[in-house]
Amino acid sequence: MLAPNHSVVTGETCVTVLAQKTGQIRMCRTDTCTSPVPSVLVKHGVCLEHYLDDVFTEAAAALQHCQRGRTPDAGKVRWLQAQGDLAVRMLSGNTSDHAEHRGRLLELLLCLAHVHECLKRNACARKS
Ligand SMILES: [Zn+2]
Repeated sequence: MLAPNHSVVTGETCVTVLAQKTGQIRMCRTDTCTSPVPSVLVKHGVCLEHYLDDVFTEAAAALQHCQRGRTPDAGKVRWLQAQGDLAVRMLSGNTSDHAEHRGRLLELLLCLAHVHECLKRNACARKS
């Protein structure tokens, strides 16, 4: 028989191992959010849900810019491309912890692809 508190002890061990691997467990920096930050997002300091919110907001803004025939800031475009790469990594990795966000990650890639298309079209229109 396992001791009644066995799972609790295991849980603590797990957290410790994870903390050793990633340095420390961070919490999402968004107000009132207590979700942990996945290791791929440590640089961003937010949980996956808030990360997706942020990138969607930026992508939507860039898209709006494009649709008005304007070019979004080059740094912003590069940032968005980097987020696309990250989303691909999250989708392709062995990341069952991202499973519930799979749909949104795919949606994000579609949205970023749309921005990319729009930028290309604008660039072509400017050349001709
Ligand atoms: Zn959060």
